[in-house]
Amino acid sequence: MSIDWKGGSSLAENINLRNSGKLEAAERPKRCWNCRECNCYWAHGSYSRHLEEGEVSADIAVPRWKCRHCGSTQSSPPSFAVPRCRYTIRVMGAGLDGYAGRLTSYRSEVVKLGETGPSPSQLFQWVKEVSRKASALLVEVQGMCLTAAEDECGLLKAEAASCPNSYKAVVPGKAEELDILAKLQSFAGVLFRGGVDFVFWCLSLRLLKDTGRQIFLGQVVRLSAPQRAKPRDSGVF
Ligand SMILES: [Zn+2]
Repeated sequence: MSIDWKGGSSLAENINLRNSGKLEAAERPKRCWNCRECNCYWAHGSYSRHLEEGEVSADIAVPRWKCRHCGSTQSSPPSFAVPRCRYTIRVMGAGLDGYAGRLTSYRSEVVKLGETGPSPSQLFQWVKEVSRKASALLVEVQGMCLTAAEDECGLLKAEAASCPNSYKAVVPGKAEELDILAKLQSFAGVLFRGGVDFVFWCLSLRLLKDTGRQIFLGQVVRLSAPQRAKPRDSGVF
């Protein structure tokens, strides 16, 4: 499975592409999210988003589009931008991967995410939100592993995964959620042949959105799914 990264796979890559003049212009969305008309978007200026990723921080111009039929707008942020979060998907993914996969603390993990990285309580919140949705995501990722006829030995190993930090959970049900999160991470490792865990997290974050969900299930993995101009209030991202 491959990912079609639009605007680069990270903020650093985006800046490099921009500096070398190789950054492709954002694609005009083909269909209006509101009235479902095709080829109806006009360019409608842009807005600036401040993003941070480890030692790199920058303001990115996000193009906006307006439907000439219904007047609704939407924007095309780069793949690595998380809605309503100044940290990129790489920062979020690295924090989640770290906490799900090794014996650690929120405090030790955020130290690795850059000097101006998230606070321990921010990482705690990310882990909490994604863990809560982990079981639904796990079923989908397991299904995709079976469809892709992944190696049985790898799948058995993934099934046995658990989170080394789950013993610290004090809220009822949290330990189980963390174990499911670790299992999800392992299955995603099988699906993406290891080494690209952060990609999985990008997908799972997109999965929390309906548009991303359809794209994921259609197995056409494009993280540049157009987002609504006004994000709905589902999820914390
Ligand atoms: Zn429209």
